[in-house]
Amino acid sequence: MNAGSTELEARRSLIRHALEMNRSGLNQGSSGNLSLRWGEGMLITPSGIAYDRLGPEDLVPMALDGICEHALAPSSEWRMHADIYRARPEAGAVVHAHPVHCTALAMHGREIPAVHYMIAAAGGKTIRCAPYHTYGTPELSAAAVQALQGRGACLLANHGMVAIGPGLERALWLALEVETLAHQYLLALQLGAPTVLSDEEIERVVVKFRDYGLKQAT
Ligand code: 13P
Ligand code: ZN
Repeated sequence: MNAGSTELEARRSLIRHALEMNRSGLNQGSSGNLSLRWGEGMLITPSGIAYDRLGPEDLVPMALDGICEHALAPSSEWRMHADIYRARPEAGAVVHAHPVHCTALAMHGREIPAVHYMIAAAGGKTIRCAPYHTYGTPELSAAAVQALQGRGACLLANHGMVAIGPGLERALWLALEVETLAHQYLLALQLGAPTVLSDEEIERVVVKFRDYGLKQAT
């Protein structure tokens, strides 16, 4: 959210992006979760409630240490969101989803290599896959933070993916780009091993992306 946004605007924005996450095909049902850094803590989607049933008052404000007083339980992945905000001061929003193609790769524990220059949008030459841990656990959270080091997105083995950004718009944009990349990679694998771009080329594109399109997005 832009500086100066009211809490109500932040809550509405979170719902809008949650609905957009499912409308785009990135996710379905009440799987996945989204949050926004808010003050010293965050605003996060509640656990297990379909996004089209959410009103602004249903979003859960919580401190990064997990303290929360709300009628609804926060997302079961609240710890992963909180740990990402703590580890990544530049992150203003976190999107977690179970997109079909990312998850298919993650079912094999496969990272995405540099088979397209768009991988640089996630900050480096691979999109790593964090090892499997039960959903909602500190172990999963630690694995995700590690796989996200120097990156804006990672896969979660046998589970899904996570993307971060300065705000929800950019985080959701990146999540969609990573899902497109996973789809393209899966198709390319059907013809054999695709060509992987060099580290130097990806470093060049990472630099070019600092000036690309959505830099104004929040
Ligand atoms: P929540 O409904 O608790 O957010 O859980 C969904 C999910 O994706 C768990 O990993
Ligand atoms: Zn999940």
